[in-house]
Amino acid sequence: MHKNCFYPLLVLLIGFTLTSFSGNDKITPVQEPFIVVLDAGHGGHDPGNLGNGFLEKNIALKIVLRVGEMLSKHKGIKVIYTRDDDTFVDLYKRGEIANKANANLFVSVHCDSHTSEAHGAGTFVLGLHANKQNFEIAKKENSSIYLEDNYESRYAAYNINSPESVIGLTIMQEEFLDQSIMLAKAMQDNFTGKLSRVDRKVKQAGFIVLHQTFMPSVLVETGFLTHKPEGTYLNSTKGQGEMGDAIANAILQYKKSISLNVSDQNSMMKQPEPEIVVAEKVVKEEPKVVEKPTVAPKVAPAVAKEAPKAEFVFKVQIMASSKDLGIASANFKGLNNISKEAFKNIYRYMYGSTSSYDYANTLRKDAEDKGYKGAYVVAYKNGSRINIKEAIK
Ligand SMILES: [Zn+2]
Repeated sequence: MHKNCFYPLLVLLIGFTLTSFSGNDKITPVQEPFIVVLDAGHGGHDPGNLGNGFLEKNIALKIVLRVGEMLSKHKGIKVIYTRDDDTFVDLYKRGEIANKANANLFVSVHCDSHTSEAHGAGTFVLGLHANKQNFEIAKKENSSIYLEDNYESRYAAYNINSPESVIGLTIMQEEFLDQSIMLAKAMQDNFTGKLSRVDRKVKQAGFIVLHQTFMPSVLVETGFLTHKPEGTYLNSTKGQGEMGDAIANAILQYKKSISLNVSDQNSMMKQPEPEIVVAEKVVKEEPKVVEKPTVAPKVAPAVAKEAPKAEFVFKVQIMASSKDLGIASANFKGLNNISKEAFKNIYRYMYGSTSSYDYANTLRKDAEDKGYKGAYVVAYKNGSRINIKEAIK
């Protein structure tokens, strides 16, 4: 009977643990909906590719609506469409919709085309095109911007004809790369498993629509309309239903593995208190749990003294991962002064801490020399991360 008395304590303890886990950054509380933004490629005056007379924009929309229908059956998932009818939506607006909704995932759905008999389904995450073929696919999808008003000023930073122009544009998505790849793999497993679609694998390329988002994001090329049998399949109710179900399944699997990761991390943090069911112990150890800083920036004393006076603090982000690593230098190729922060179910790892932007760039070069090629400088104000542009203007 007195077992019941433990529950309030347990709830309290878990509450404290979650609070200490979130640190300065927000981590999605359990009761918040898991928001999925579904993006049907093209639309309106942009038909997409017209292989064999099939319409990419219509097929993408029908698949996406099916995905949304399947996901909406699950409590705790909120679906947002960038378009749910035949309208044209600018590429930058698609990302904006996802960012404003603070979505957990962004999934863009397309169909491919080629002059050869190429066929199969592939899933892309943002990155450098590993080869000309990937570049050509991104170029085709990116050319939608030419159908937008004011595309010249809006996309001034992009030259879609240059494979190199995407360098530097991948930074925004870098910290979501692990999770984007995890989702992309789940997509491919579903396409190639039960559906036996030809596996065109998880690939990286410079898609503008993926560059706009600030969350794990993938672009699915469901198949080639130029390949008659595949185009016919994708244009059929059966094909659209099956591909829609496969994408929905992949999203559900991803969501499940993410929640498992989070509960793993929570249980890892509770490890020092395995006697959690003993009420007396729980009461005694509560303060310890509250004080335990999960996010513990190790700052050199000299810098720590300087930091409160400075308006901005600069660090070098060397990586982000769903893995919770210790901040010992041995885990970071010998780099000292590593700090860690939880952000949207991942961990960001930073090197150094300084009020000087110039010195931060020196630190970035150090990190690059150690092998962290994608390292970049990030800025903080009052302990919160801000846009680097605000700190250096
Ligand atoms: Zn497309």
